[in-house]
Parts: sequence; C-alpha cells; structure tokens
Amino acid sequence: MTGSLIVVGTGPGKAELMTPATKAAIAGATDLVGYGPYLDRVPVCATQQRHASDNRVELERARLALSLAASGRQVVVVSGGDPGVFAMAAAVFEAVESGEPAWRDLDIRIEPGVTAMLAAAAEVGAPLGGDFCAISLSDNLKSWATVERRLKAAAEADFVVALYNPASKARPHQLGRAFELLRICKDQETPVLFVRAAGSAEARVVVATLGSADPAIADMRTLVIVGASTTRRVGRWIYTPRREEERT
Ligand code: SAH
Repeated sequence: MTGSLIVVGTGPGKAELMTPATKAAIAGATDLVGYGPYLDRVPVCATQQRHASDNRVELERARLALSLAASGRQVVVVSGGDPGVFAMAAAVFEAVESGEPAWRDLDIRIEPGVTAMLAAAAEVGAPLGGDFCAISLSDNLKSWATVERRLKAAAEADFVVALYNPASKARPHQLGRAFELLRICKDQETPVLFVRAAGSAEARVVVATLGSADPAIADMRTLVIVGASTTRRVGRWIYTPRREEERT
C-alpha cells in the first residue's frame, strides 16, 4: 500500500470551525501525529495510532510523520488553526528538504484551516478589512532584530498588524517592546484588540488603545491585532474600512 501524508489544522477551537475536508482526512488516517493538546481536539478512534509529542519538537515530529508515510501508512499531521500559518506544514517541508531523497516523491497534501487571525477578527467586527500583515513575536526560529525590523516596517506602511505568539512565560517582555516600536509611527489612539481563545466558547475580547494597551493581558492563547490609521469603532464593533483615507 502506498503511504500518504496530509497536514491539517483543527481551526481555532470550536468543532464547527474544523473544515469537512480536514474531518475526512482525519477519518481516513491510520496514524495521527501532533502536539498533544491539538490531538486532544480530534475524536478518538480505536483503530488509529496516535503519536503525541511536545510543542518544541516540530522537526522531529515532521520526520516521524514522513517516515511513517514512507513505510506505507496513511498519516495525518494535526496543527491548530491553519497548518501553513506558523505551524507544521512548513516544518514538514523543512524535514523533506533536509531528509531522505525519497521523501520528495511522497504523496503530501495540505488542507487549509481557519487561522487564529481570522477567528479573532470575526469576534470584534472587521479589523482586517484593509491591508494587513501577520508577524509572530516568537524569536525561537528568527532573531529579535528581525522581528523589530518587520514591526517598524509594518507600522511605517500603515498595515493592520496581527501579532501571533505575543507572549509566553519564557518571553514576557516582547509584546511591550513591540508596542513601543509601533507607537513610533502609529497614533496613540490606534485600536489594539486582545482576543483570547478566539473562535471557541471561551473567547474573550479586550479593546484598548496603543497608548494604553497593557501587554500583560496577552498570553499564549491570545492574538493581538493593532489597527491601521483608519481602524475605528462603529457601535460595539471595530472595523477597518476598505477605502483609503488621507493621512494627516
Ligand atoms: N497555526 C496556528 C498558529 C500557531 S502560532 C493558526 O493558524 O492559528 C500559535 C499562536 O496562535 C498563539 O500564541 C496565539 O497567538 C495564536 N492562536 C492560536 N489559536 C488561537 C485562538 N483560538 N485565539 C487566539 N489566538 C490563537
């Protein structure tokens, strides 16, 4: 039997936000590979093998998935959100690039999912209605100097900025530093949205301004959105109009 590898994302939390294509891929798997809490979101099936691992070992996990697929198994790698956004799909291709030549011929497929940024935006209105970018504040895989350069460029270009991985126990100070950098080019009144557990029953939203935003509100389950110059309130919603306005 020929093996295959499908990389899926469970979406941001609630079951309805997992796509039918992802559910079908999971149902057809002989082996599920992923970070423990993401695997826990998938219903248990007695005939499937589960390979749960720690958060920090993505490359090892990707290599395990590739060798299982090469041995003929139907493997599904499970990420959260979308598998291509700061997640396992890229790790799988990193492992292919540095691994066995035969892995390049494997049947590898990526199923898209609802990423945290989209679920977070939907909780508050339409903050991503104009041009936006996404930056991960984690400096595990890139230097903090690179993060700072991208934050400055994003602020200068007046993007709405979605910040993934805004804080962790090992990195408590970076979000505060990111706000400092964004304040250089962005107005103090710019809306800042902290959305925790977006797209799940426990979703929680805090709306602040760039001048007053408290970085301590964010944790590993929070997505932070910093508005553009046009991002504003209407009623109880926050949105960014599609139309450009003159900057003063
Ligand atoms: N592949 C994932 C992102 C992985 S990076 C995706 O597409 O969503 C992990 C970061 O994503 C977290 O630190 C947090 O910033 C964000 N995140 C993931 N799920 C979230 C959720 N339900 N609500 C808010 N932020 C979330």
